[in-house]
Amino acid sequence: MDLLNKITIGVMPAIPKPVVGKVASRYISGPKLTDAVKKVKLLSSKGAVATIDLLGEFSDNPDHATAAAKTYIEILDTIQNEKLNANVSVKPTHIGLKTGYDFCKELITSIVEHAHKLGNFVRIDMEDHTCTDDTLRLYWEIHEKYRNVGVVLQAYLYRTIKDIQPLMEMKANIRLCKGIYVEPRQIAYKHRINVINNYALLLRELLKARCYVGIATHCEEVIWHARRIIYELDLKPDEYEFQMLLGVEDELREILINEGHKMRVYVPFGEEWYAYSTRRLKENPSVAGYIVRDFLNL
Ligand SMILES: Cc1cc2nc3c(=O)[nH]c(=O)nc-3n(C[C@H](O)[C@H](O)[C@H](O)COP(=O)(O)OP(=O)(O)OC[C@H]3O[C@@H](n4cnc5c(N)ncnc54)[C@H](O)[C@@H]3O)c2cc1C
Repeated sequence: MDLLNKITIGVMPAIPKPVVGKVASRYISGPKLTDAVKKVKLLSSKGAVATIDLLGEFSDNPDHATAAAKTYIEILDTIQNEKLNANVSVKPTHIGLKTGYDFCKELITSIVEHAHKLGNFVRIDMEDHTCTDDTLRLYWEIHEKYRNVGVVLQAYLYRTIKDIQPLMEMKANIRLCKGIYVEPRQIAYKHRINVINNYALLLRELLKARCYVGIATHCEEVIWHARRIIYELDLKPDEYEFQMLLGVEDELREILINEGHKMRVYVPFGEEWYAYSTRRLKENPSVAGYIVRDFLNL
């Protein structure tokens, strides 16, 4: 952990909530669904589509999970009514995975079923390694009945090269990211260059198998590999998309859009913005470093 990250984590509890709110407002659309809707419309005017995420995770309260699932139904209805070019992203631990697998599966299935009726799509986010098996199983089991569902894979995990094998056969819809959780060396690449190389390897395999891939990254090296692979495989812009987080690397986002690539932006909203922001920063100090560097224009 570099010094700037350490300092940021150390002083975080002393930072007043409004100041955290000011920083977070760049990365989170706001507390309400209407805030997300405004952001999606703004992104749309800049040529990007969106995926809407209701903030929350690692809850073991079944009532919260049920309420979150209900809100996702409202989000899907709003997307339909407002004619937004957006889908939704859900975190299994927000929708009851810590209460029980079957409970979570029932709730996520209800969201996917509703999205199916509306012609929309649900992405199941990937969380830390304690959730990987269950999340892939959720995807497999829900996908047996509904095709409007996709999952996320993390390039930092050694296991991912094996996980993609059956997913390639079924031409699964995958978001590929580096992975945001701090995982042990026993299961994950720790060196940046290894994560980038593994990302390029996985991306090439998935695209060669004609999986639709959401290339979720702001990393220039990964984007270079993606451009090269897209060129080598002669892919058309409707065979993949780039994805970025709200408020991160807006300039690079614009460059990719202007090159003719489809771009989807992850738009989080929700009342839990403070808990989410501080937890994410504590979990992964490098995120704190990025934010402070950006804020100070370093
Ligand atoms: C659309 C989308 C969905 C994602 N879904 C998941 C998921 O389901 N599971 C999961 O584990 N991870 C997810 N991630 C996070 C991902 O795994 C990485 O942690 C994150 O994208 C940073 O990796 P990078 O490829 O951008 O490369 P990095 O080398 O980490 O970042 C490249 C540059 O982007 C900027 N940057 C990157 N992240 C941030 C940030 N958070 N705040 C400010 N600046 C930043 C910095 O300037 C940095 O130098 C998602 C990312 C995206 C874009």
